[in-house]
Amino acid sequence: MNDPSGHRPGRDPAAEPPDARIAALLRAAAALAPDAAAFASDPRAAAETALAVAAAELAALRAYRERTERQMEELFNTITAYAALEYDRRAVVLDDNDELINAMAIGLNMMGEELSHTMKALVRARDEALAASRAKSAFLANISHELRTPLNAIIGYAEIIREDLVETGQDALTLDVDRLQVASRHLLNLIQDVLDLARIEAGRVDVRLETTDLRTLLQELQTTLAPSVKDAGNVLHARVQVSRPQILTDPLRLQQILLNILGNANKFTVGGDITLSAGDHVEHGRDFVDITVADTGIGIPADKLETIFDAFTQVDETSTRRFGGTGLGLAISRRLCDLLGGSIVVTSELRRGSTFRVRLPVDGPERHR
Ligand code: ADP
Repeated sequence: MNDPSGHRPGRDPAAEPPDARIAALLRAAAALAPDAAAFASDPRAAAETALAVAAAELAALRAYRERTERQMEELFNTITAYAALEYDRRAVVLDDNDELINAMAIGLNMMGEELSHTMKALVRARDEALAASRAKSAFLANISHELRTPLNAIIGYAEIIREDLVETGQDALTLDVDRLQVASRHLLNLIQDVLDLARIEAGRVDVRLETTDLRTLLQELQTTLAPSVKDAGNVLHARVQVSRPQILTDPLRLQQILLNILGNANKFTVGGDITLSAGDHVEHGRDFVDITVADTGIGIPADKLETIFDAFTQVDETSTRRFGGTGLGLAISRRLCDLLGGSIVVTSELRRGSTFRVRLPVDGPERHR
């Protein structure tokens, strides 16, 4: 493409219009011109076309920018809306949590206060109960002593009267005096039991530990019980097989425990067998003796097996009427076993018989060792 002046347009400084700005505009228009030949033939029209194209492109660009801006704004709005929502949601969750935490804190505080009130009330009630229990036990211990003295006098005088009656040949009257004595002795036993229990509960019973020969102790018990066992038509068997017969215990208390369960076995068995056995037992490396008293008597219902160890508890009133007793013997025996560092348990089958097992540490209660 040739310039009419012989120069290539835009290359010849002489052909350049004086105004540099117009020249630049023309250069730009020439560059934009779709057809360089048309520009050469009619630069003005070509420039206008180029300008129109540029204007259209600019308009398109502006539209594009506006659209983009709108889209961006929409996007921004969406994002901010979402962010706001999310924020609200979290705020709600946080608020909820706050409320929950506050409610829990208030609840916990209330519970704490309630607990502390309850604890104080309980401690007060316990102290009062302990004081009342000590007062009751002290009262029982004193009153029992006061009752025993005149009772012993009654029994003693009844004995003298009985001897006098026999001496003066009024034997028929001795029957009444015998009844008086039996009743008094029963009352005395009852008082003795109440006194024992009261003293144990008041913590006033000390165990006196001494090395005790178990074989001798069991032998003496058999001798003591022989007459009443015979009276009930029972037979007492003994099986003692212990490797350490010398045990550290309170012999009087052990005697009291065994007399009670042997006495019960004899009381609730008629024309049957009572077996007293002793054997070794080792638990956690410690040596124990197991002393069991098994009878073939009336047995104990399963639901009464534990309650019979409660004070004043008997299996049923009819048996009490039939067999007598206070319902205190086993309660005392269990507490005494505890004091000796041992235990007492029972197994039984109705109409088949019962087995009581006393387990005692050979070397005495743990706290004494
Ligand atoms: P008590 O014999 O003076 O009534 P205990 O505390 O010694 O009091 O015994 C409580 C109850 O346990 C008895 O009244 C009796 O019902 C039951 N019991 C104890 N030993 C036996 C036994 N060997 N056979 C059947 N019942 C028994």
